[in-house]
Amino acid sequence: MWTTDTLARALTQELGAPVQVRFTRSRSTPVQAKALGYGPFKSAGVDLGLHGFFEEAPVETVQDLGHWLRVGRRARLASQRLDQWIQARVALLPAKAPRRVRVKTQGQHYDLIPLLHSVGAQEFPRHFGFENPPLDDPAKDLLPLPAITWSQQNPRGKLKSLRLGSYSKDRNLVRIHPLLDDPRAPEFFVRYIIFHELLHAIHPSHRSPGGRWVHHSPTFRRRESRYPDYARALQWEQKDLWSLAKKIRRKRG
Ligand SMILES: [Zn+2]
Repeated sequence: MWTTDTLARALTQELGAPVQVRFTRSRSTPVQAKALGYGPFKSAGVDLGLHGFFEEAPVETVQDLGHWLRVGRRARLASQRLDQWIQARVALLPAKAPRRVRVKTQGQHYDLIPLLHSVGAQEFPRHFGFENPPLDDPAKDLLPLPAITWSQQNPRGKLKSLRLGSYSKDRNLVRIHPLLDDPRAPEFFVRYIIFHELLHAIHPSHRSPGGRWVHHSPTFRRRESRYPDYARALQWEQKDLWSLAKKIRRKRG
């Protein structure tokens, strides 16, 4: 059994910089890492919020966590093993919602995993730990990379309520509409939808002072408009999305 103290000591040794540990009960963000000063964790040190289940983490998992703190997601194997262990532990927590989600990433035409990793690394390398913050940049909080899945909507379903992507904070899960799993949906557009949903993970919806939900804050919109393919994606959405949706519907036969 680990305590916050023994964990902090072990991780400080792994990282070679001070690590503070506190236990949390956050199932949506079981690992929260924040630099203690400026620069990469390995020089600045880390304040680490870990879900209480880390009390029972095997030594190898703590080593993987240390490795990930040191080099970010470039520590591929360590990150993968760590993600897997965390996901397995989260799954053991008392269920919040009874419904389980079946995650399906490989579609007929697009595999969502490489797209997610590529968009994440290109647009949000520091938020999701693909790389550590540079020396001259204020410390950024690290977030766990969301899981992704094709949603279970019918690609030939109603056009009116078409929602191409969604992000669930509780499940830290991005869902993409299966309509886009089609060679006629260009990759740059699928990537843009993934980008938009990842942006929701970084800028969570919040209530305005008046009590209304704000999903796309001005900060969100500003960041979105800086996406390299933003104009092209909006143009495709306006010009070509509906005709694709209609063609796919007509195929129903
Ligand atoms: Zn949105």
